[in-house]
Amino acid sequence: MKAHDGMYIDGAWRAAAGPDTIAVLNPADEQVIAQVPAGSAEDVDAAVRAARAALPAWAATPPSERAARLAALRDVLTARKDEIAETVTAELGAPLGFSQKVHAASPIAVCGSYADLAASFPFEEKVGNSTVYQEPIGVVAAITPWNYPLHQIVAKVAPALAAGCTVVLKPAEDTPLTAQLFAEAVDEAGVPAGVFNLVTGLGPVTGQALAEHDGVDMVSFTGSTAVGRSIAATAGAGLKKVSLELGGKSANVILPSADLGKAVAVGVANVMANSGQTCSAWTRMLVDADRYEEAVELAAQAAAKYGDRIGPLVNAKQQARVRGYIEKGVAEGARLVAGGPEAPAGKKGFHVSPTVFADVTPGMTIAQEEIFGPVLTVLKYQDEDDAVRIANGTVYGLAGAVWAGDEAEAVAFARRLETGQVDINGGRFNPLAPFGGYKHSGVGRELGSHGLAEFLQTKSLQF
Ligand code: NAD
Repeated sequence: MKAHDGMYIDGAWRAAAGPDTIAVLNPADEQVIAQVPAGSAEDVDAAVRAARAALPAWAATPPSERAARLAALRDVLTARKDEIAETVTAELGAPLGFSQKVHAASPIAVCGSYADLAASFPFEEKVGNSTVYQEPIGVVAAITPWNYPLHQIVAKVAPALAAGCTVVLKPAEDTPLTAQLFAEAVDEAGVPAGVFNLVTGLGPVTGQALAEHDGVDMVSFTGSTAVGRSIAATAGAGLKKVSLELGGKSANVILPSADLGKAVAVGVANVMANSGQTCSAWTRMLVDADRYEEAVELAAQAAAKYGDRIGPLVNAKQQARVRGYIEKGVAEGARLVAGGPEAPAGKKGFHVSPTVFADVTPGMTIAQEEIFGPVLTVLKYQDEDDAVRIANGTVYGLAGAVWAGDEAEAVAFARRLETGQVDINGGRFNPLAPFGGYKHSGVGRELGSHGLAEFLQTKSLQF
């Protein structure tokens, strides 16, 4: 696969300061497909300096011009959508159809939404005898995970650029090729030199150097709760703003009046998508006692059908981790009704079988911790209060779903959930709706105008 052997800094590809590289693997056949540079603190410093130097001019650029650059970026991404899908498939292992439909299409939609928002956002408002200006927060460090490689990048970079901020991106080690493609697209879109910079490298080295750099005003991080906690501490020490999109353990609550067949089918599809590597996946299905066995059977049947349709996990470590959780579920007494810890027979790559556990109790490890693989747990509740208790009974609060015969009933239940997003009766993804977590699932919101506001600070002038 095509790869740059340098960093994109100040509008050009430059050699890295050190000789170290990261091997990029195709998780479907475990072959090395490319090498990218592993950045050092020196590379990070060069990128942050470029971003700082570019900040005054970009911050002063009229929002309509920033909107025009984002529209151009959307158009370049659209023109290169097949290449995006192929690159994500090569380094993440997602089936090509899913890469086209989700990994390529969603960031194009999000980028387009910020082209529109940059042009229409009220960067200035009158409040009594004051004028309040929304100004860019400054240089943003964007640190992203591998699970939706381009979406996670665009969900940070597009609003940051719309706000007038400049950016240094440190993408995940497993998926740097998508990030390099994005940097090419930014360049092609005519974004001025230094406004966007890319440094590839290891989290604890390159990511850490970026998060603690004095020239960074804000760290926007998506990834695990453990790393998010350490980044928040680092940023706190430097009094930088942070926005954190972290882990999840979302509940899919099927109320007694709901269409059980539909709720289970959509619920299983939600967990199996992207091989279960979705932070907002509804990994806990909650069903009332009367229909519990029926739901378990439907879920097991649905999961079995996914056997050949899902891709591998991203790497060997994630595969071992997910299999470890499945073994733990069995050891703690949950009933395996589909899949299991063994890798599917005769398949190359880091596969895990679509797995469903029944007889899961709320305190079990598989009901509490984020597994990040194709594993669904089905839990039983006695009444609505019990369902609320179970749904809210983890440290996470990122997303969820509620199904009921009557929409008002579902909404009333959803309002009791401690979580940032709830899909009602299978409600569709909305790229303009704020996305983010309650509790340990994060701080701040991405997407839409709420996502743009994260990158702004206010100044008020009194008259
Ligand atoms: P991760 O936390 O291991 O890594 C995320 C990023 O942080 C990577 O770029 C990594 O290199 C970097 N990093 C690692 N250690 C660092 C350090 N000490 N300092 C600075 N940067 C560091 O997460 P991951 O395994 O790549 O992604 C999976 C996790 O991301 C899951 O927990 C998932 O729930 C979460 N996630 C959350 C959302 C959301 O919107 N809430 C979205 C996608 C993924």
